[in-house]
Amino acid sequence: KSVMICGGTGCTSSDSMPILHAIEQELKNHGIENEIEIVRTGCFGLCELGPVVIVYPEGAFYARVETKDVPELVEEHLLKGNVLKRLVYKEALEKDGSIKPLNDVNFFKKQMRIALRNCGVIDPEKIEEYIARDGYKALHKVLATMTPEEVIATMKQSGLRGRGGGGFSTGMKWEFAAKQVNEQKYMICNADEGDPGAFMDRSILEGDPHSVLEAMAIGGYAIGANQGFIYVRAEYPIAVQRLFVAIHEARKHGLLGKDLFGTGFDFDIEVRLGAGAFVCGEETALMNSIEGKRGMPNPKPPFPAVEGLWKKPSVINNVETYANIPMIILKGAEWYSSIGTEKSKGTKVFALGGKIVNTGLVEVPMGITLREVIFEIGGGIPNGKKFKAVQTGGPSGGCLTEEHLDCSIDFDNLNSLGSMMGSGGMIIMDEDNCMVDVARFYLDFTRDESCGKCTPCRVGTKRLLEILENITQGKGTADDLEILEDLSENIKNASLCALGGTAPNPVISTLKFFRNEYLAHVVDHK
Ligand code: SF4
Repeated sequence: KSVMICGGTGCTSSDSMPILHAIEQELKNHGIENEIEIVRTGCFGLCELGPVVIVYPEGAFYARVETKDVPELVEEHLLKGNVLKRLVYKEALEKDGSIKPLNDVNFFKKQMRIALRNCGVIDPEKIEEYIARDGYKALHKVLATMTPEEVIATMKQSGLRGRGGGGFSTGMKWEFAAKQVNEQKYMICNADEGDPGAFMDRSILEGDPHSVLEAMAIGGYAIGANQGFIYVRAEYPIAVQRLFVAIHEARKHGLLGKDLFGTGFDFDIEVRLGAGAFVCGEETALMNSIEGKRGMPNPKPPFPAVEGLWKKPSVINNVETYANIPMIILKGAEWYSSIGTEKSKGTKVFALGGKIVNTGLVEVPMGITLREVIFEIGGGIPNGKKFKAVQTGGPSGGCLTEEHLDCSIDFDNLNSLGSMMGSGGMIIMDEDNCMVDVARFYLDFTRDESCGKCTPCRVGTKRLLEILENITQGKGTADDLEILEDLSENIKNASLCALGGTAPNPVISTLKFFRNEYLAHVVDHK
């Protein structure tokens, strides 16, 4: 038997580690510690139910386990072989009380785990477990059998687009950098995930850090870089620690460093910690921060692929983008591009939060509808309340309403509806949420996070927030709605970087779809 315990931030914060230690102790007490394997994994996805423990081979999914449950769990299940039904997630039990395969549970049924393939499956601190699941095989394939041009062609054919928010073709980005003639180039991983409610990248780093290291080495080979940097926020201590362990292990096994697989290709990776400024997720600000300068954006062009870190050609991809790459190399571009829609290939990881039954992390094929994600996978709205809106794309995105529930989720469709994919945060609102307050919340965030370099964003977000605060306090007038719209357009058009350029989106979309709520707040509305 093996016992998998989630060691991701969600379950760790609800005390999964004391449970792990209690199980270890209890096994010792019964003298069976050598018969049962205990694995501390990354996130299983159902964060709402943490701490989560899964016992194999039965696949019994135990939810909200407490240390006081451990003696009974060990005695009944691990010693006597009886599943402890009172602790099993009720959706994971058949009507007759038998264990349902996890793939048949609504939360998992429609998911397709490519980027998350190893999260909740392996111990992220044991490189052997990653290797046992075909880890570093893609890097070997690339170095032993493919030219850099073939790697880039594969990436382009796969249709993979950046998962950090921009949605730019990964293959084209690599091609731009590969074409630059320069002895020094860099591969960078953007792990500065900062959207409120988003934790996709954190979970991948916590659950499967080697997939990112392997993909960065593949990218390094493709563009001609021998040095990588991972820029990760220091507020992700578990992810940071697992990255350090993974890099150490990869070096020890000759999978990072000099002469990888005896091919003469050198590639190594260093970690840089960010202090948590949202703007440092913007690629030029991120590179300034790595260089030790204040994390502020630069005008583009020049683009990083031409003049990036220390003015050298650089490619920046985010964590989730990288996590897809080994599988694309192993299974082929055709396999990957067969998943998803015409222009949005593959899968997307979303962090479900807010007023939804199954708060957690999901990976779904592009083209799935919002209704399927929110009501089938997410379990709908708790307490019998009515769905009102979903914010996709975090503070840069917008709110979508009930009329959009059957729309497909892909880059272009979400943009055309006035929202965006963003990095994958999905916050669900019910009938009790005030949409003016939602817009105020996001503007409060972007006002705080504006780096102050350009006036439209620095002053504009402050003015937008003041007007929204007035409205929420019943001091606004109907004229304020027009000022909000005008000002939003100006901030969008005149800001230097995407933070300011997208900051008004929550205001614009809520004004468009929930104007009545704004009007209900203003003093002169009849
Ligand atoms: Fe800084 Fe905002 Fe201007 Fe971006 S748009 S450079 S965050 S002030």
